[in-house]
Amino acid sequence: YRRTNQETGMSTASLRIDLQALAANWQALNSIGTCETAAVVKADGYGLGAAQVATALAKAGARKFFVAVAEEGLSVRSALGPDPEIFVFSGHMVGDTALLQQANLTPLINSAQQLQRHLQALPSHGFGLQLDTGMNRLGIEPSDWQDLREQALAYDPVLVISHLACADTPDHPMNAAQLACFCEMTDDLQIPRSLSATGGILLGPEYHFDLTRPGIGLYGGAPFCAARPVVSLALPVIQIRDVAAGETVGYGNAWCAARASRIATVSAGYADGLIRAMGPKVSLYHATTAYPLVGRISMDLITVDVTELAQVPETLDMLNNYQTIETLADAAETIGYEILTSLGARYNRVYRGS
Ligand SMILES: *Cc1c(COP(=O)(O)O)cnc(C)c1O
Repeated sequence: YRRTNQETGMSTASLRIDLQALAANWQALNSIGTCETAAVVKADGYGLGAAQVATALAKAGARKFFVAVAEEGLSVRSALGPDPEIFVFSGHMVGDTALLQQANLTPLINSAQQLQRHLQALPSHGFGLQLDTGMNRLGIEPSDWQDLREQALAYDPVLVISHLACADTPDHPMNAAQLACFCEMTDDLQIPRSLSATGGILLGPEYHFDLTRPGIGLYGGAPFCAARPVVSLALPVIQIRDVAAGETVGYGNAWCAARASRIATVSAGYADGLIRAMGPKVSLYHATTAYPLVGRISMDLITVDVTELAQVPETLDMLNNYQTIETLADAAETIGYEILTSLGARYNRVYRGS
């Protein structure tokens, strides 16, 4: 059975992804510094579709891409063709060798063990180095670097990177401490260097080195306040009903009508990444006007008080220029990154621009 066009997705919410805004955000971040700007497209392009996102960013001018694991690199390679350089943060793991080779991915080596594995399996295949400058998450420790550097440098690594732990807090002393550590570990190298993601780009030119690696700022998230919103989310109205004063709505009778009210039930819920905890603090929008979400967010459904809305439209917006991923993040006491990457696979993804 195949649906006809008219049937397609009538009850499926549409996640609209503005590739023009994405490209504009990359260009804006690129124009902050004088160095090269890469693009981080891990986690399926922060949940927005790695192939489409990477293609749009390549068109905007990005020539280097970063992913978390080799499998992600393969899909980005398929989308982009042979030319752009694709780096893998997790480095060279057991079982990655064939994939790194076939998709021509550049692992960022994180440990002595990974270096030996790489030099043994793919001695002539390019690699980079990830150094730990205090975050203690991923990368070669300063003490190990002393022992490894001679061997690693003999094979001409193409890039050396580290990552800042507190770049979203400009005044945090950790930023300067990591910068100093990075300089100490790398000042005498003749290899291109990269320290900063979105937050680090905004800390100033001394953090930029040869290449920056923005992710969240491309997708419209904090701390890049000047970012254009990239995603909007329209939820179809499935049903409208009138409730009398004193009637309740949804699980746990969590909301009780104080007056005669009109309730719209829309199609999306916590299974679509609309975190249950944010319920009481968010609204749905029709154009520029907000209508409060009432009752609990359930797995696939949300209820909205549209009493004040003269004519209920076919869809109501959960994400738009007024209620952004940062608004939802605040409401759910999390970060924009988690909102973006949670947006479910069930949406009908619609790409605009580019
Ligand atoms: C995710 C990540 C980035 C991108 O960070 P944003 O804060 O999204 O800009 C850059 N470098 C590393 C090592 C990362 O893990």
